Amino acid sequence: MKMLQMSLLEWQNKFGSEDACIDALIKTRWPDGFVCPECSSREYSFITSRNSYQCSHCHHQTSVT
Ligand SMILES: [Zn+2]
Repeated sequence: MKMLQMSLLEWQNKFGSEDACIDALIKTRWPDGFVCPECSSREYSFITSRNSYQCSHCHHQTSVT
């Protein structure tokens, strides 16, 4: 977990804001944009406290990491 936290901090330092960080993480994991692994929906919200995406359609949660 310590490595992970450093990594996220590095992302934030690199991209300057949390939103840019999240965008970068999305592009890294889903080059074509977020796709829900459960229902293939592209609608989502981001849960900052969990560092997770929640599908707006089926509410499946997917961790950034
Ligand atoms: Zn879904």
